[in-house]
Amino acid sequence: MVIFKSRQPPIDLPTELTDWDWLFDSSYSPINNYPPSQLAGFQNAITKERVNWAEIKQYSTYIATALVKRYGLREGQTISLFSQNTVWYPVAMFAGLRAGAAISGASPAYNAEEMTFALKTADAKFLMTTPGSMEVASKSAEAAGLPKSNVFLLEGKLDGYTTIKELIEIGRSYGESGQSPAFNIPPGKKNKDVCAFLSFSSGTTGLPKAVMISHQNVIAQCLQIQQITPETQKKIMAVLPLFHITGLVHQMHLPILLNAEVIMLPQFTMEGMLNVICEYKLSELLLVPPILIRLVHDPIVDKYDLGHITRFSSGAAPLSEEIIQLLQKKFPNTGFKQGYGMTESCSCITAHPPEKFDYKYAHSGGAIVASTEVKILKEDGTEGDIGEQGEVLARGPQVVMGYLNNPNATRETFDSDGWLHTGDQGMVDSENMIYITDRIKELIKVKGIGVAPAELEDLLLGHSHVEDVAVMGIQDDYSGELPKAFVKLKNGIEQDTAVGRELIAFVQEKKVRHKWVREVEFIGEIPKSASGKILRRVLREKERSGEGRG
Ligand code: AMP
Repeated sequence: MVIFKSRQPPIDLPTELTDWDWLFDSSYSPINNYPPSQLAGFQNAITKERVNWAEIKQYSTYIATALVKRYGLREGQTISLFSQNTVWYPVAMFAGLRAGAAISGASPAYNAEEMTFALKTADAKFLMTTPGSMEVASKSAEAAGLPKSNVFLLEGKLDGYTTIKELIEIGRSYGESGQSPAFNIPPGKKNKDVCAFLSFSSGTTGLPKAVMISHQNVIAQCLQIQQITPETQKKIMAVLPLFHITGLVHQMHLPILLNAEVIMLPQFTMEGMLNVICEYKLSELLLVPPILIRLVHDPIVDKYDLGHITRFSSGAAPLSEEIIQLLQKKFPNTGFKQGYGMTESCSCITAHPPEKFDYKYAHSGGAIVASTEVKILKEDGTEGDIGEQGEVLARGPQVVMGYLNNPNATRETFDSDGWLHTGDQGMVDSENMIYITDRIKELIKVKGIGVAPAELEDLLLGHSHVEDVAVMGIQDDYSGELPKAFVKLKNGIEQDTAVGRELIAFVQEKKVRHKWVREVEFIGEIPKSASGKILRRVLREKERSGEGRG
């Protein structure tokens, strides 16, 4: 059997601690390892509002107490966070964890329908949001059966809604001895058995699902990445969305373990990001391919002196050869690293260790992280050796618990031997570095964010002109990929560009921007297997050959 094992020393994994205890009340906690004046924290890059780890510990204790004693939150219930990046997002998140709740992050760009789906899928009982998202939040809360009293504001003020700062005061009013105790892992269970987060991913097939991420998954992933993070990393820019697994791990957990200051950008603009990079003299930048693409192409970049950047870190989607070359040319004194993984592996399966922070290895997704194994499953069902391609399978303490209320999808993705079937195609070389060469699964990645073709297919099937449809990703220079729909029209409907435009507008009306269909192609029949599954490979080959387009 060919199993590629990590060459890093194994991590020493606590199995009883909760995520909150681990970061705020254990020997790992910076609170116990640094004097109060040296504690880093989360700060808003624009307003400079800042909370350090000790404040988060205190605030999250008060908020947890308020939620439990005043609002009836119970262990195991879900709190949904629906917000752009704010320093109050992690405060609320850690409060929920302290109370034994599971936290479910949702994209702040969701419309009411998408948000209702997210609330229902994660079975959320509480919702925290911002004034700018309240219109969507209140509609979806109502549709999902949440009372208004269970909807809170992370920042700002609005009549009729309790704010997080008011929750702090409510909790504080119970006095130090009246605080509800921190949630403990129940007797007979380990931290791998208790869900801490419900993040969304469509996995290898179908609609978005709530991925159950345990307390142990996050702890393991942070320890795996800490091992290969240089001591010098003391400032981290949080420009990636906090609801995504990359934000959850690398922007909200790892920095606490490293006692690194997190500079948060509420919204991404190129200019805003460049200003922050210069103001804080940031040296290592964790970005996603669409932002790296802009760094090499956008003329605004030339107005800035970025000589202090020492390293770029990329993840969440593939980065093209061309961009890697341009990046090295434009920033010749920098190093480069990547992480490869998915929500279902709580972020990284592989990542570059310091000795490989070099453009020479930039095409690789990195080396197998500590305590992790990788297998390559070839098309003929046998296991691939060094250099052989096939589906990437991964096993380790960061591989998540499964999908909430979806045993079939769980069984399909996580096999009985503990292997996660990633749906990505790749190979491992003699240096234990992974190379992702293709995506076998149907997922589309638009600007690093996953889009489920099934969701768009379901929507388009509801249009009166559509008999059948298949959606897949097509390459785009800026976004990485964009959705394209192959449509079989109903009898009597003419294959006309006006119909194509109508279908595109139909999706735009119903879905958040990154799911918008870029192109519609009419097709006589959607290729399907005998069991009725769309043969996406046939469509991909058709697309590659350019057949049918004129
Ligand atoms: P998500 O669950 O949103 O993080 O999406 C995970 C998927 O993104 C993976 O299964 C890959 O298809 C893709 N992906 C993530 N990181 C990389 C990478 N470094 N290179 C290529 N594809 C990646």
